[in-house]
Amino acid sequence: MSNESLANLMTETRRFAPPAEVAAAANVTAADYEAAAEDRLGYWAEQARRLTWEREPTETLDWSNPPFAKWFADGRLNVAYNCVDRHVEAGHGDRVAIHFEGEPGDSRAITYAELQREVSQAAHALTELGVATGDRVAIYMPMIPEAVIAMLACARIGAPHSVVFGAFSADALATRIEDADARVVITSDGGYRRGAPSALKPAVDEALTRPGAARVRNVLVVRRTGQDIPWTEGRDLWWHETVGRQPEEHTPEAFDAEHPLFILYTSGTTGKPKGILHTTGGYLTQVAYTHHAVFDLKPETDVYWCTADIGWVTGHSYIVYGPLANGATEVLYEGTPNTPHQGRWWEIVEKYGVTLLYTAPTAIRTCMKWGDEIPAGFNLSSLRVLGSVGEPINPEAWVWYREHIGGGRTPVVDTWWQTETGAMMISPLPGVTLAKPGSAQTPLPGISATVVDDDGNEVANGSGGYLTLTEPWPSMLRTIWGDDQRFLDTYWSRFEGRYFAGDGAKKDADGDIWLLGRVDDVMLVSGHNISTTEVESALVSHPRIAEAAVVGATDPQTTQAICAFVILRGGAPQEEGLVEELRAHVAKELGPIAKPKRVLAVDELPKTRSGKIMRRLLRDIAEDRELGDVTTLTDPAVMDLIQSKLPSAPSDD
Ligand code: ATP
Ligand code: MG
Repeated sequence: MSNESLANLMTETRRFAPPAEVAAAANVTAADYEAAAEDRLGYWAEQARRLTWEREPTETLDWSNPPFAKWFADGRLNVAYNCVDRHVEAGHGDRVAIHFEGEPGDSRAITYAELQREVSQAAHALTELGVATGDRVAIYMPMIPEAVIAMLACARIGAPHSVVFGAFSADALATRIEDADARVVITSDGGYRRGAPSALKPAVDEALTRPGAARVRNVLVVRRTGQDIPWTEGRDLWWHETVGRQPEEHTPEAFDAEHPLFILYTSGTTGKPKGILHTTGGYLTQVAYTHHAVFDLKPETDVYWCTADIGWVTGHSYIVYGPLANGATEVLYEGTPNTPHQGRWWEIVEKYGVTLLYTAPTAIRTCMKWGDEIPAGFNLSSLRVLGSVGEPINPEAWVWYREHIGGGRTPVVDTWWQTETGAMMISPLPGVTLAKPGSAQTPLPGISATVVDDDGNEVANGSGGYLTLTEPWPSMLRTIWGDDQRFLDTYWSRFEGRYFAGDGAKKDADGDIWLLGRVDDVMLVSGHNISTTEVESALVSHPRIAEAAVVGATDPQTTQAICAFVILRGGAPQEEGLVEELRAHVAKELGPIAKPKRVLAVDELPKTRSGKIMRRLLRDIAEDRELGDVTTLTDPAVMDLIQSKLPSAPSDD
């Protein structure tokens, strides 16, 4: 899109200064940017001191064999000790680590001392099952405390975990078990979703009938719902029996900083998911640091809640490792936001006095769709910082989030990062940055990112291009599991010596970064580059539109034609002339070149399990192709629904 339209977007956009009291007490200040700019490695070495090392590292970064980085390589530590035991030793054993809220309304508070006992028992149980350091364990669980305990128990004995999202199919589970060659699976009988128990164990049984997954020796099963489940004697073991009888004390062993911590598959918005490998010391340093800095965490008083699922990276970094390394008190919620009513999330915020909330734009837009009166019915005055992650957040949703959830006073941190980056990379900082709705803004202290053109040259302020990371960072992926070549090809070959994130971005007049979605999603219309994000953002600024997904479909006249899929607000039927009105609205907001050729009202959009729109599937539909990999889609039936609605294209004018 033209710089002119970006300028329009920028001037229309309100800017928010951080409230004075937030600024005065912030954990990280402008001085951090200066310190990190002056001595980046020194800054990270200092952040590594937030952790407790059995052997302090003397080296910070070994970049002698790029892009295979080693961070803090001669240091040794235990991740579970850092997330649990050291807080108990520091006298915080009675502090609640996890406020668990089950979907049916059951709840349980787990202190750091209790967490230490349960993680210790689980670690003993895994050892008893023959899991040795370096062996992989698959975890397929609902959002219950045992999921967190299982991950920490693996970390405690140095067995890398591979968490598979609890709603993935048996096939998706089987391929992940096979890829990681896991010998033990930890699961539960089921979990509560949408007001009913939903079974998990049968999917594990089915997965284990696949040839590649047949090497699994044991399945450890947590009893959550009490429903009847199939049982294989000798292989299947109840968690409460096997874990429950273990000693409550366990001495953690220290591992090398580069010991593998976990494998996690990306969400698959651009294609077949990749098994991303993360290691120990650098990862934990950056997740702890960013959680402290970006949420401005005060562990004694804050109550933090991240609504993500542990099955994707936000759950790993910002439910398990970051907050617990910092000794935070957090909420863990099992269910969906609208069970039993659309105010469930806000009820939880009120109940626990949540101060820091981290969620995704898709959830924010859904809450907008349900109506302002729903959050207004709850006391949300405890909230003090709001976070967003997963997709670019449109300014409309950003402003709604701040006003209707944050009471107009909370900073909103729009955090850009990836499964591959392991931790937050680009984000405003509460108390430091002048916030701009819709912009992730500035690389965090110690992070080097830039936007480049096709030839790898940095673009000028006001222009767009490809987002790249120019220096290694502690929580970077170390490789794609079992496929170094794909690691090199995917991330390091497009631009010499730098990491290519796959995302398009623009720098505004101040040099702040605006994420524009995947490079694959940028459309070429009559010689103009137009970002799907900007057209979507313009569409949802129309009062009738709740959500929008835009793709470029091959077009004989214009190279690509803009095709928009929209969900109407409030469920009212589509009024006559609405399509024309929407097209005109986009033309007015962004210029005539960005006017969609087709606008199609649909009931649902195809989304990944982590809530992201899968534009590649809509592109397949718009171009009448067979659908690509759908294994990470929430509901494959959505695609049939959309396909059945596809009318013929209107003529352009
Ligand atoms: P795959 O790599 O398999 O295609 P994926 O990229 O969707 O899947 P994730 O690692 O979960 O898997 O997502 C990272 C991507 O999410 C980023 O590359 C970016 O496109 C998007 N993203 C995350 N946070 C933000 C944000 N705050 N603003 C804009 N985009 C974001
Ligand atoms: Mg990706």
